[in-house]
Amino acid sequence: MHAAELMARLNPSTVRYDIGRGGIPELTPQDIAAAIGMVPAGLPRELMCRLWWPAGAALTASQLDRALMDLLLKEWTERELAMYKALGAVAGAVSPGERASAQRQYAEAHARRWPKWIERLEPVTITETYKHLREAVLTEIAEPRRCSCCGGSGEVRARAGVAPCDRCLGQGTTKQGPTWRAAALGMKEVSYKQTWHEPYEWLLAAVTDMASGAADELRRKLHRDEK
Ligand SMILES: [Zn+2]
Repeated sequence: MHAAELMARLNPSTVRYDIGRGGIPELTPQDIAAAIGMVPAGLPRELMCRLWWPAGAALTASQLDRALMDLLLKEWTERELAMYKALGAVAGAVSPGERASAQRQYAEAHARRWPKWIERLEPVTITETYKHLREAVLTEIAEPRRCSCCGGSGEVRARAGVAPCDRCLGQGTTKQGPTWRAAALGMKEVSYKQTWHEPYEWLLAAVTDMASGAADELRRKLHRDEK
């Protein structure tokens, strides 16, 4: 069972999941909350809670946002440094072969750069877009879009009964498209596609990985409890 469904039992107001449907009904909300408490503290657990059980988070929303900002800034800095390192290689190349290889390295590093953080220099003003991006990524994962192909069931009619839906691979949900993301970031779709798609996908993958790592840990704790 998906951690989102388990954790939804802890949210009194949730109506998205049918409690007990094919699940493990012997687990009480107390069991689940206790198991969440046993997942090691850290960003993965915080993200898991933010996505599926906000009341269980230890960090405030702004502390969590700060942690995600640091994560983005670190990756942004590494990409900038890779470009300057390649620049040094171009400048210091002595043979034509060495120069050609350094130029390739520079072009690749340059293409991997992310949009700048500074919007104005005097006084230093930070762009709001990275903040919108963090909020949009969390919303996209916490409230996934229902698959339009199978209507959210994860199954489609096939010759022999039903088959897993190809579009969502049986998940029932799909990623948001560029139209939704551009609106969430307050920009035109073309700007999203040209400039912001890369950092968006990077953060989406990073948050998904961390939250599902914590969710796996949660399932292991619950499983051990049952024995
Ligand atoms: Zn589907």
